[in-house]
Amino acid sequence: MMNWLRAFMAGRNGVDQLGIALVIVALAINFLAQLTRLTFLSFIAFAVLIITIIRALSKNLSKRREENRRFLIIGDKIKGDFDGWKDRRSQSKHYKFFTCPGCKNKLRVPRGKGKIQITCPRCGQRFRGKS
Ligand SMILES: [Zn+2]
Repeated sequence: MMNWLRAFMAGRNGVDQLGIALVIVALAINFLAQLTRLTFLSFIAFAVLIITIIRALSKNLSKRREENRRFLIIGDKIKGDFDGWKDRRSQSKHYKFFTCPGCKNKLRVPRGKGKIQITCPRCGQRFRGKS
């Protein structure tokens, strides 16, 4: 990095994970704008880029880090949900998945047992299901 830029960025937020994600979102919206020729999408992409730059130059580090932290938590949750879904899908040949009506726990039962009574191991709720 050039010296003047390093001096300029001292004490500023810079590009964090949320910043990278916002750039990707802006590029995606811009791509969509080109594709659909909807001018207002270009403005939205431009606005997202401006927000990204303002965040990168911001000196309110605690607030920016809190935003980034929340973004990472949401990202982790989405990734976790997606991994769980992928995992269940790969097992779906041999197992059927139920969501407990009591506590929303995900339950796995072997397939091909017909109508069965399922007891949630977490909360003890009983419900019927077809495996
Ligand atoms: Zn339960």
